[in-house]
Amino acid sequence: MLQSIDLASSASQSPFLTDEQLSWLSKARRFADSVPLSDVLKSDAENIFRRDLFEDACKEGFGALPFPTTYGGCGGDYVSFCLINEEFAKRCLPVMSSLGVHILCQEPIYKFGDDKQKSKYLRAAASGKYLAAFALTEPQAGSDTAALATSATLVGDHYVLNGTKTFITSGGAADFYIVMARVTDKLSSTAPSGGGQSNQGISAFIVERRFEGFAVGQKFEMLGMRGYATCEIVMSDCLVPKENLLGMVGEGRKVALSSLAQGRVTIAAQATGWAQGALEGAAKILSSKNGQIDSLHHYHLGHMAMLVEASRTLTYQAAYKIDCGQSDYNLAAMAKVQATDAAMEISSQALSLCGEMGFQPGYLIERIFRDAKAGQIYEGTNQIQRMLMTRYLAGDEASS
Ligand SMILES: Cc1cc2nc3c(=O)[nH]c(=O)nc-3n(C[C@H](O)[C@H](O)[C@H](O)COP(=O)(O)OP(=O)(O)OC[C@H]3O[C@@H](n4cnc5c(N)ncnc54)[C@H](O)[C@@H]3O)c2cc1C
Repeated sequence: MLQSIDLASSASQSPFLTDEQLSWLSKARRFADSVPLSDVLKSDAENIFRRDLFEDACKEGFGALPFPTTYGGCGGDYVSFCLINEEFAKRCLPVMSSLGVHILCQEPIYKFGDDKQKSKYLRAAASGKYLAAFALTEPQAGSDTAALATSATLVGDHYVLNGTKTFITSGGAADFYIVMARVTDKLSSTAPSGGGQSNQGISAFIVERRFEGFAVGQKFEMLGMRGYATCEIVMSDCLVPKENLLGMVGEGRKVALSSLAQGRVTIAAQATGWAQGALEGAAKILSSKNGQIDSLHHYHLGHMAMLVEASRTLTYQAAYKIDCGQSDYNLAAMAKVQATDAAMEISSQALSLCGEMGFQPGYLIERIFRDAKAGQIYEGTNQIQRMLMTRYLAGDEASS
């Protein structure tokens, strides 16, 4: 019989990590340790976004870690960013998801933005002065992005945007948003119903919260992923200066995909952290309950540990490819699906093994169970990701 299991994150035991990556991991651990558990529980229970914590995270360099120093980034790599996400997710740190989206929004500005956009938005994002959010989903356009109905019409020096975006992480707290809208010739005060049913004309815009015609709509009280200011945003004749078009007209899908290919790897890292957290929580509860871990539980814990490691391997392989300049959509999708499904399975199994103690918020297992469900849905549902993997196998590399 085992007295206990030492599960202290095996990511740090990888022989492949460089000194710099290990140093980011230690920094992330120190930061996570400095946040009291009571704060973590409160932001979930009360659904409050901790802007102060986000700003503190940016002071540590986490807010622009994988970007060059030119515009305030830290010149780190994506593997390091995944390591901090895994660490933050293990403790359900209230800043984790907003930070992931914040990086997701800077990526397309680096890739598609002009110098003016880069100097204005990237520096402010790196320092934490600005928080960014990514606005693609609409009430009628989730998986089906071709149904996107938010319209953008050029009138003089401004694009006039009309439409509603829903379930936007950091939506209620952000300073600027990467908004996907369909450029049309005709100005209408409401978005065309049903959208254009194609990806034609979809374009990306940098929309500031302070722009005329922009408003934050309802705040969502969700099962999981609470405390990230997830809200609707509403644009009613919202005036966006034409220089805030990101990339070219019609390049919106390309812009969104460049973000999502990396974002899915971030989610995989977060889900690996959830799974590790649930495994550690279960081992702690089981050994404290009986003074030792019963052999009846060995099979389950071993299986859970294997799933965590499989997620970690795929995740860091995908992150490493990003660092090599070979961002791989298919591998990113595989990592996201494997890691979020594993986090769901492991947290569910952990609750079964631990009985009533697993339901106590302080062990974070029940929170991870609730959050992991969302991980299977956002940034492309796991069902859709599996369909894309098949298309990729069939040779359609343009799939996303
Ligand atoms: C916590 C949370 C945070 C989010 N944050 C953001 C954000 O910051 N920005 C943003 O833009 N969006 C965000 N979203 C929205 C998210 O990306 C969408 O929920 C997701 O893309 C799925 O869209 P949907 O909810 O409309 O579901 P639908 O697309 O309606 O899908 C419903 C079900 O049908 C299945 N399905 C759909 N189409 C097909 C098909 N062709 N074949 C087979 N099955 C299909 C799906 O897999 C799913 O199981 C967030 C969502 C959540 C839950």
